[in-house]
Amino acid sequence: MRIIVIICLLAMSGLAFGQDRYVLVIHGGAGTILRTQLTPEKEKAYKEALKASLMAGYEIIKKGGSSLDAVEAAVRSMEDCPLFNAGKGAVFTAEGKNELDAAIMNGRTLEAGAVAGVTVIRNPVTAARAVMEKSKHVMLTGKGAEAFAREAGLEIVDPSYFHTDDRWNGLQRARKLDSTRQQLDHADTAVTSAKLGAEHLDYKFGTVGAVALDRQGNLAAATSTGGMTNKKYGRVGDAPVIGAGTYADNATCAVSCTGWGEYFIRLTVAKTVCDLMEYKGMSVKDAANELIMKKVPVLGGDGGLIALDRKGNIAMPFNTAGMYRAAIKENGEWEVMIFKP
Ligand code: ASP
Repeated sequence: MRIIVIICLLAMSGLAFGQDRYVLVIHGGAGTILRTQLTPEKEKAYKEALKASLMAGYEIIKKGGSSLDAVEAAVRSMEDCPLFNAGKGAVFTAEGKNELDAAIMNGRTLEAGAVAGVTVIRNPVTAARAVMEKSKHVMLTGKGAEAFAREAGLEIVDPSYFHTDDRWNGLQRARKLDSTRQQLDHADTAVTSAKLGAEHLDYKFGTVGAVALDRQGNLAAATSTGGMTNKKYGRVGDAPVIGAGTYADNATCAVSCTGWGEYFIRLTVAKTVCDLMEYKGMSVKDAANELIMKKVPVLGGDGGLIALDRKGNIAMPFNTAGMYRAAIKENGEWEVMIFKP
């Protein structure tokens, strides 16, 4: 009797017969990535950074660690890399500051944590996790989030840590373009990046995210971003909004989004992908495509997402020229991609 109970418990935890599927998928942002503008050196640097992030998370799930640990590690790796618009390398606000947003979600318990508009926390994704695990709240913002991070013993840095010349120059270009953009916005609410041209590239680009399935069969998602270049008035995008840019539910899938955040918030993109699976029986691919290829562009938004279901099925749609993305499966096979297949 006791043996049967033990076997049942182990089978339920997915360990007895070895949960043979474990997967990690990451993105480093979607946008106007043009082959002509990406030098071979830059392409190599991005691919190496994506691979490093992939390996940081994969090593964890390979050893039986949790999907939560894996997505946090993968996102931290990209937050520490100046190539991405998250952590070091984040874009600048109109005031010339870096204000960071991040979220994380546990698909097993539906617990979630997020921070928004933080300026001194080195790894916002870790702060989001601390909010989830060490507070009674889901989202903390600005100074309050920073005070909480200090109390939680997280690494605090001087705001200058986040500065990169590339992003600073991007702000100067955006400032010049801002008036043109506003004129376009007034003329037509469906302003697309195509209309704004390649220079739109610096507005939103390089947000990072990860979704993972661990050996216990649990899903998790995390997203981290500096938001959009030249953002004003404490603007917060979709990344830290649970259900918009980030969501995970073992019953359906884990999702991390990237793109023009306002549209992703209005369409609660991440949760809607889950709902289409749950209530309409759609596959993760069809559900993700419905949002990214239909709903978001119809409103005039652009971007992409990564999604992963409990069986290890992956979706990585985007309606922009490119999306930095990568995936690794239990057999160690990995791929890093930038442009359309
Ligand atoms: N979604 C992010 C935001 O709107 C930007 C991005 O994904 O590049 O803040």
